[in-house]
Amino acid sequence: LNRRLAEFGTTIFAEMSALALSTGAINLGQGFPDTDGPEEVREAAVRALRDGRGNQYPPGPGVPELRTAVTAHQRRRYGLSYDPDTEVLVTAGATEAIAAALLALLEPGDEVIAFEPYYDSYAACIAMAGGRRVPVTLRPHEEEGRFRLDLDELRDAVTDRTRLLLINTPHNPTGTVLTREELAAIAELAVERDLLVVTDEVYEHLVFDEAEHVPLASFPGMRERTVTISSSGKTFSFTGWKVGWVTASPELVTAVRSAKQYLTYVSAGPFQYAVAEALSLPESYFTDFRADMLAKRNLLAAGLEEAGFRVFQPSGTYFVTTDIRPLGESDGFAFCRGLPERAGVVAIPNAVFYDHREQGAPFVRFAFCKRTGVLEEAVRRLKGVS
Ligand code: PMP
Ligand code: GLN
Repeated sequence: LNRRLAEFGTTIFAEMSALALSTGAINLGQGFPDTDGPEEVREAAVRALRDGRGNQYPPGPGVPELRTAVTAHQRRRYGLSYDPDTEVLVTAGATEAIAAALLALLEPGDEVIAFEPYYDSYAACIAMAGGRRVPVTLRPHEEEGRFRLDLDELRDAVTDRTRLLLINTPHNPTGTVLTREELAAIAELAVERDLLVVTDEVYEHLVFDEAEHVPLASFPGMRERTVTISSSGKTFSFTGWKVGWVTASPELVTAVRSAKQYLTYVSAGPFQYAVAEALSLPESYFTDFRADMLAKRNLLAAGLEEAGFRVFQPSGTYFVTTDIRPLGESDGFAFCRGLPERAGVVAIPNAVFYDHREQGAPFVRFAFCKRTGVLEEAVRRLKGVS
């Protein structure tokens, strides 16, 4: 393994899901739903397979039906208008979109600012692209009870070598949703310092309470400098299909596509037709999905609190970050490695998402995209921990 990748090892998700399998513990680690997405969308995939749509290499940018559905979704939801022919690229999940964007846009040595804790593929992809990551730490805010971005810290992190801001909202693992004001400040900074922005919005439909997802591309001066990434994995509960997409200006989409064509060339065909249908589902699909996840969030968050964890109520995503110190614990790694034996539950130590590991040490993430009965059983088991 080369020096760029040596520090990364095996992803925590593979490690923890393997632990769940070998111990039979309830897996609240890796973020994948235990209920598949809508039947009619699965049927659409079967129809595409049977009718011979997408069984051979689909077009490089993605099938026209999906590109059109992506632009219709962006227009309907956010009033953002993109040209399906020049401003959309279908990717093998958001993961490939992130990799291709960074590989296409970074010169060796360029600095990339990303929030810490960050989704683990960010660090590895920045490294593969020869970039340097500059973390800006989201810290727990006592009064707000959420992890918050310090805008001054973000501004101070920008140097003459900064090329790109890598943003993620709603944010995995903290569940923080950036506010309109925070996003406006980020946009102003990007314009002022002439930075590119790659924004990972895979949890765009998973926002709760008063929170609102506002795409960064919708702020003044941002459309032409922003690569927006989303994915069907989260919104439609098909994480195994690996269909994601990028929307951006023609120049940026062309750049990302230059990298994508040599990574996977194209993404799996039949699923693209099915996801096109998923994006065109009536609004009730999205509201029901959100309501269902909100109920699950409330169940797990309340249960974790009763079990003695300090809970940071997430405004978005399907993860709850907790602090284990009230349980008399301080090392999330050790806690998560022992939890399957101790309680029959698997969780993720947030420290893996930090450069400053000590900052993330006491935090542990639980996923709530699971059936109600599973969450109830997990809570019951976790109450035995304290
Ligand atoms: N970004 C974030 C923030 C994620 O949590 C995930 C995990 N699914 C991804 C990207 C990857 O998405 P996909 O499965 O579509 O590759
Ligand atoms: N995004 C999911 C998570 O954060 C899983 C991603 C993965 O397994 N690579 O848990």
